[in-house]
Amino acid sequence: MRVLKFGGASVKDAESVRNIPDIISKYRNNELVIIVSAMGKTTNALETLGEAAYAGKSEAGEKFSEIYDYHQQVTEMLFPDSSHEIYGQIRELFDEIKHWLKVLQDPERDYDFDLYYDQIVSIGELLSTRIVSACLSEQGYANTWLDARKLIMTDHTYRAAKIDWEATFDRIHTIAAPELQKGKMVISQGFIGSNGEFSTTLGREGSDFSAAIFANILDAEEVVVWKDVPGYLNADPKYFKDTVKLNKISYTETIELAFYGAKIIHPKTIRPLKNKSIPLLVKSFINPDEAGSLIHEDLSSDTMVPSYIIKEEQVLISISSRDFSFIAEDHLYTIFGAFAGHRIGINLMQNSAISFSVCVNESPRLNELIQELQKEFRVKYNDGLRLITIRNYDQDSINKLVIGNEMLLEQRSRITVQMVVKEIRNS
Ligand code: ASP
Ligand code: MG
Repeated sequence: MRVLKFGGASVKDAESVRNIPDIISKYRNNELVIIVSAMGKTTNALETLGEAAYAGKSEAGEKFSEIYDYHQQVTEMLFPDSSHEIYGQIRELFDEIKHWLKVLQDPERDYDFDLYYDQIVSIGELLSTRIVSACLSEQGYANTWLDARKLIMTDHTYRAAKIDWEATFDRIHTIAAPELQKGKMVISQGFIGSNGEFSTTLGREGSDFSAAIFANILDAEEVVVWKDVPGYLNADPKYFKDTVKLNKISYTETIELAFYGAKIIHPKTIRPLKNKSIPLLVKSFINPDEAGSLIHEDLSSDTMVPSYIIKEEQVLISISSRDFSFIAEDHLYTIFGAFAGHRIGINLMQNSAISFSVCVNESPRLNELIQELQKEFRVKYNDGLRLITIRNYDQDSINKLVIGNEMLLEQRSRITVQMVVKEIRNS
């Protein structure tokens, strides 16, 4: 069996949804699990809706209508018959959003924002999969739509839920596997799960991970992720004119690249695949017959090509002791404790005798962290920066990027160079 995963861009409008049966027709004799993301930028829109409602802002109403109209329009283009059952299914899901918005606006609401966030944001995938499933049925592809909240079981960490593998294994084998045996495709959602009580989400961009969970549990032969790019490119075309597609990448290299911020695949996707040695293909839904990129065991990969990864909205914090004493273990213990306590991930760090520098993503939680550190240390920070990582660098690739930039920090290992810079000039 195979798992096919369709990202948001591959279902962003009626025309894109119509393209899915064409792709699926290439897999006629396979058992298929199809995992779909929310349409286009729906997850962002639902996020904004939830935040506005939680803050009691009037924009919430407008945002709701925008999301509703978008889905309604796509549905009307795909299903001209207004008595089609899809309309009832969509209405039901929007009623679920409305219910949560009402609960959110109640001044006596009981829970943290993150719980409400997951209840609302998870509806995006439920909507898109209903539409894809109905479209496949119209085209004669027998399929069963399954609610991932009955299959992917998690803990209670809202917005970053951890998988309960044993329970998920049982659910997938008792609910999804029999459908495949009956000759039906299974259509389910990426990104979402349940803790048995409420919906949970697995972290932004988590649909790839969902595909890998199904693949691991059902011993898939292969996972194919369909994207709007030809495969894994060595740089983001937003910043670089000349990008190169890597044909083969090892699991390990993929994890490394994802760690530095490459948007190839969600970092959690690799482990479930690697554990069962399941190959992952990244392919273009625009040119489905092109080869794409293959991620598998330690292929003698062509990753000797430099890969460029750029993270924006970076802040460089430099922390020094007030009495010019060395930044030693006891200080580092306090500093790391503060970062962990405020849930701020570190992208890069560098230590010198009297100062410790850290590069992090901009975040609303940063102020509190800085205030806490200031109680004990002298803290300086610089925002609006970029973190550039070059994997498999050579001097040429560095030179191209350094010209015209003020370099605030640089760190090199044998394979990777990282630079924190102010303003970047493309070559
Ligand atoms: N729709 C979710 C997101 O945009 C999950 C995904 O697309 O992978 O983060
Ligand atoms: Mg997405």
